[in-house]
Order: sequence, then C-alpha cells, then structure tokens
Amino acid sequence: MVLYEWNSFYFGVLDGMFDYVEHSAKCYKCGNLIVDWQSKDAYLCLEKLDPAEVDSFDSFYDSCKKCGAWNEYKVIKDETLIKKEPDGKGGYLYHKLITVKGFKRIPSHDEKMDNFKKKVTGD
Ligand SMILES: [Zn+2]
Repeated sequence: MVLYEWNSFYFGVLDGMFDYVEHSAKCYKCGNLIVDWQSKDAYLCLEKLDPAEVDSFDSFYDSCKKCGAWNEYKVIKDETLIKKEPDGKGGYLYHKLITVKGFKRIPSHDEKMDNFKKKVTGD
C-alpha cells in the first residue's frame, strides 16, 4: 500500500507533463462534478484534448477535489480498416478509422482493495 503510493508520486514527478482532457463526469464516490481531467498518453505538453476526437490516448484521470477519490476512465474505441496498400518495402500500410464508442470507468486502487477485503471478510 505505502509502496504503491510512493510509486505514483515518484512517477508523477518524473513525467511532469500531461495533457488536459475536456470531459465532465461525476465522481463515483461523492457525485461531485469533475471537469479538469488529465492524461499522460498523448502529447504531454498541456494540450486540450477532446476524448471523442483524439485517437492517440487510451485513458484519463483525476482525483476528486471534494473527497479525494481517484477517478479514471478508459476510452473504448472501434477500429475499421479502410484501406490496405503496399508500403514499397514488401509490407503493407493499413489505414484505419478509429472512432470513440464511449468511456468505461476503471476502479481505483482503493476500490479494488475494498472489494478484496469484502470478499475475504464476507462483509
Ligand atoms: Zn468525490
């Protein structure tokens, strides 16, 4: 538990940069509206990303300003092959259309621990 928290702090400091994600969703725990999401999957230069348009990132996150709960979403995508053409080097280039189908919340570390404890103790 302590090691996990130290690790996230350490990597946060090392990476430094992130992008903003324009999205609004309620905190799963307290219902507070969260609008200042971040992602480290794309450009890492404080760009504003629209999760419905950008296909270069897979997830975004924020901790709730009200209750501190970790909220994280995975971007659910759909890929359609549009065109396949020779790349001139004996292989192929694949042109794909990537569309965003929606967002799926990933349970936080604390939630996973709580669920595990419930399973073990039977509460
Ligand atoms: Zn909250």
